[in-house]
Amino acid sequence: MGAGPSGRGRGLFSVGETTARVLKSNIDVRFADVAGCEEARLEIMEFVNFLKNPKQYQDLGAKIPKILGATLTGPPGTGKTLLAKAAAGEASVPFITVNGSEFLEMFVSVGPARTLCGFPIRVHDMFTMARKNAPCILFIDEIDAIGRKRGRGHFGGQSEQENTLNQMPVEMDGFNSATNVVVLAGTNRPDILDPALIRPGRFDCQIYIGLPDIKGRSSIFKVHLRPLKLHESLRKDTLVRKLAALTPGFTGADISIVCNEAALIAAWHLSPSVQEKHFEQAIERVIRGLEKKTQVLQPREKTTVAYHEAGQAVVGWFLEHADPLLKVSIIPWGKGLGSVQYLLRERHLYTREQLFDCMCMMLGGRVAEQLCFGQVTGGAQDDLRKVTQSAYAQIVQFGMSEKLGQVSFNFPRQGKALVEKLYSEATAQLIDEEVRRLISAAYTCTLDLLTRCWEHAEKVGQRLPEKEVLEKADLVELLGPRPFAEKSTYEEFVEGTGGLEEDISLSAGLKCWNRGQEEGDVEQPVQGSSCSRW
Ligand code: ADP
Ligand code: MG
Repeated sequence: MGAGPSGRGRGLFSVGETTARVLKSNIDVRFADVAGCEEARLEIMEFVNFLKNPKQYQDLGAKIPKILGATLTGPPGTGKTLLAKAAAGEASVPFITVNGSEFLEMFVSVGPARTLCGFPIRVHDMFTMARKNAPCILFIDEIDAIGRKRGRGHFGGQSEQENTLNQMPVEMDGFNSATNVVVLAGTNRPDILDPALIRPGRFDCQIYIGLPDIKGRSSIFKVHLRPLKLHESLRKDTLVRKLAALTPGFTGADISIVCNEAALIAAWHLSPSVQEKHFEQAIERVIRGLEKKTQVLQPREKTTVAYHEAGQAVVGWFLEHADPLLKVSIIPWGKGLGSVQYLLRERHLYTREQLFDCMCMMLGGRVAEQLCFGQVTGGAQDDLRKVTQSAYAQIVQFGMSEKLGQVSFNFPRQGKALVEKLYSEATAQLIDEEVRRLISAAYTCTLDLLTRCWEHAEKVGQRLPEKEVLEKADLVELLGPRPFAEKSTYEEFVEGTGGLEEDISLSAGLKCWNRGQEEGDVEQPVQGSSCSRW
């Protein structure tokens, strides 16, 4: 069928044609191309085995589940699509892929003739095609586009979406254990999926692929370094570890961009091979987006930005639990005017002290402006947003407020009725008070610290407009060594996590069988991005 993007008909005649693309069985992606998500990979392997050796199960008297359905969830760029593809590659079966958003697009463009007996025919077509090509893997990417929870808003396209959604379980229930089709669905919003889809017998296995940890990242780097021509002085093992330590918070997709970008930079400089500095530049580029060298800041603005960044840098330097600094810059990039780039620690659990110090660091910019100029600018908006988010999370979710006690509520989400709020008006008021108290405590602490170390902030604030970027070494020169021990190498980061080898940790993937997704956003502690922007 192969109706690729260009062949996607928009007229009436295209009704009945699905946008699903069959990629024939010669898919060249293998499990070896997917790294850093060991457990998810093991999970998927089980499915592959069902497809490859059904007899092995039948011989033992085991019943193969009627439907082999799983959702792959996790942040964008963590390799969900890649893993599904690799599964097809390993099983040497056809891989049929369709994007959830394509369904809706078709409905909007095709008009009223789009349904057959009230059902959108596309879902049906897609499943028919899968049956015809069995054994195969049907991958529905971005399933949240059609699989949103029903019962909210009924305008035009919405009911169309409901039809699509209604049809899915109907089709899936029509499968039997001989169908031999694995249906995988990818989404980064599992929380909004309709419960009908994740009931047992449908997409009842949820495979989560989170951000890779440092070991995961170094294995992913290994995969993406394969095609590159590295400088002969570089040892791959050492290089991947170094790069992994420099890229906390990066996804697999970011890493693949870094590797490609490094090669592009090397080529641009007519270098015969890719060197370490090219990787460093590539990482910086991915973190910061492209620098806007042309944007002209008025001298006064430049000074303000410099003091703002200096404030954050100095607060981070002298607070024990703040993340280690890498560099401070006032070169505008993206939407931001300056940045403090720091190394996010590999952490899953934040203590109250760590969260508090992070808040103080964020507030450092505004406090510095206040101290230096006696007035503040709107440049701290993004910092304040992060501070507020973190404070709310501490009080409402992590149960860190003594007054409120050991409770955890979901954040009310946009568009959600207030009825779902689990607490009383009085509690809501207490929450607001506690949040304000926490933020103002952080503000006082920051003000106090910066007032004490003001000469340091001055030094950085005056040096920044001259040099534009201050590396860690410059900061050590200006401020003296940081008074707290810091981790920066791969070995230090992975110490005590069971060997130095990459990717032996199984923490990257989690599964939960037969369990509906829990209500509410899965809010991570506010880690910010690796840069705090203006
Ligand atoms: P998702 O579907 O989760 O948004 P993709 O599978 O589309 O992410 O990933 C995009 C690209 O990023 C892949 O083609 C691959 O090059 C790279 N990538 C992402 N995750 C990984 C990983 N775990 N291992 C190797 N490469 C990865
Ligand atoms: Mg994808």
